[in-house]
Amino acid sequence: MAQARRKTDVAIIGAGPAGSAAAAVLAEKGRRVTLVERETFPRYRVGESLVPYCWYPLDRLGLVSRVRDSSFVVPKHSVQFVSVDGEQSTPFYFQDHTDHESATTWQVVRSEFDALLLDNALDKGAELVRPATVRDFLRDGRRFTGLRVDSKDEGEFDLEAKVTLDASGRDAFAQLRNGWRVPDRKLCKMAIWTYYRGAKRQTGRDEGATTIAYLPYKGWFWYIPLPEDTVSVGVVADRDELFRETRDPKTIFHREVEAQRWIAERLEPGVQEGEYRVTSDFSYRSRHCAADGLVLLGDALAFLDPVFSSGVYLALQGGVMAADAAQSALDAGDVSAGRFVEYGERFLTGVESMRRLVHAFYDHAFSFGDFLKAHPDKHFDLTDCLVGNLFRDFDPFFEAVGEFAEIPEPLAHGHPLVDENG
Ligand SMILES: Cc1cc2nc3c(=O)[nH]c(=O)nc-3n(C[C@H](O)[C@H](O)[C@H](O)COP(=O)(O)OP(=O)(O)OC[C@H]3O[C@@H](n4cnc5c(N)ncnc54)[C@H](O)[C@@H]3O)c2cc1C
Repeated sequence: MAQARRKTDVAIIGAGPAGSAAAAVLAEKGRRVTLVERETFPRYRVGESLVPYCWYPLDRLGLVSRVRDSSFVVPKHSVQFVSVDGEQSTPFYFQDHTDHESATTWQVVRSEFDALLLDNALDKGAELVRPATVRDFLRDGRRFTGLRVDSKDEGEFDLEAKVTLDASGRDAFAQLRNGWRVPDRKLCKMAIWTYYRGAKRQTGRDEGATTIAYLPYKGWFWYIPLPEDTVSVGVVADRDELFRETRDPKTIFHREVEAQRWIAERLEPGVQEGEYRVTSDFSYRSRHCAADGLVLLGDALAFLDPVFSSGVYLALQGGVMAADAAQSALDAGDVSAGRFVEYGERFLTGVESMRRLVHAFYDHAFSFGDFLKAHPDKHFDLTDCLVGNLFRDFDPFFEAVGEFAEIPEPLAHGHPLVDENG
């Protein structure tokens, strides 16, 4: 029997922040957009802490006031660090950096935040096939021409598309299918996390602060206050460190809590809820960000260690940028890889800014305090990076950071797979 077929302008794998943002932008421009999503929403996701620059893509999507007025957020005004011996530093308040309204950002319950983003894309006219799993790409020679979809309700069909966007998150569909995954070896950490109810919270404008609490050996905890008296709390470190005595996540988690006084004191009155979750293989980038008829975005393109909460911002901003690039390629009637050179260069410049800061963070010789004592004039640049203003020139800043930490060269890969023979 012949394979069932459907046609669309833009096929998108995954309805997370990257896929839904791209779908909304393209649908608003009148394109026929089909999102294929494996899970039924609302679905769980880790990654609850936003950075101030999320404001800009959310504004483009028309969602700032809906996020601000929703019940699934806690306003976040700052990020603060806690030393290995449990001493809390002065927070970085975003309002000291900018008086723009983006200075108030949010901690979000991702299941509801992501559902809002998806609903917005559907309101703008995108179509959704769900629950449905993408099994393969359709190809015509070098060109990607759509997706083979396995839908619970409709069975298997071919979704033919003028252009395909891979927003499949850390499943990284195109990377795995094409052998494009390149790990950032020095950043191969793992995380173990869970949730507490009734743990200690700060008050006033510090209530929604993200806390990063250091462990010896450059491990760290996140402590993220969420609505309904819940906190998200997780530990990130080298696998060898975390697995040094046992592989049981619960035992490891509580051993590390006991090693960080600030975290132990905060969790003490709380009740742990749900499972202990584990993930590894942090930090990778695809060998290519695009090919003929295909564009990668969000975690499906690159994933960075979450220490500075950059993932959702890069997914939203990358979604908007990929959609704009796809729209102008469709307008030109040419979706070959060369059309996405500028998209790749610009997006990866932003990723590199954050990547350099993440590398500095993990350098044993580096401390923010010592760096700022030596370079008080660099306070603005540091905060600018932390708030997410990543798409500007940070070279002079990282030259100064380089006196204290080893700063890596930009990764050479990530550019589109352009056919040199034309
Ligand atoms: C431990 C940890 C902590 C983090 N903390 C933060 C944080 O505090 N702040 C922050 O901003 N970010 C954080 N992140 C990162 C953040 O979670 C991600 O960057 C963000 O979710 C990326 O969005 P996305 O749209 O690219 O992918 P996702 O949100 O993962 O969405 C991808 C979607 O694709 C679907 N999909 C995948 N494969 C298929 C398929 N074959 N067929 C159909 N559908 C498919 C999935 O079901 C999913 O819904 C953290 C990540 C980790 C691992």
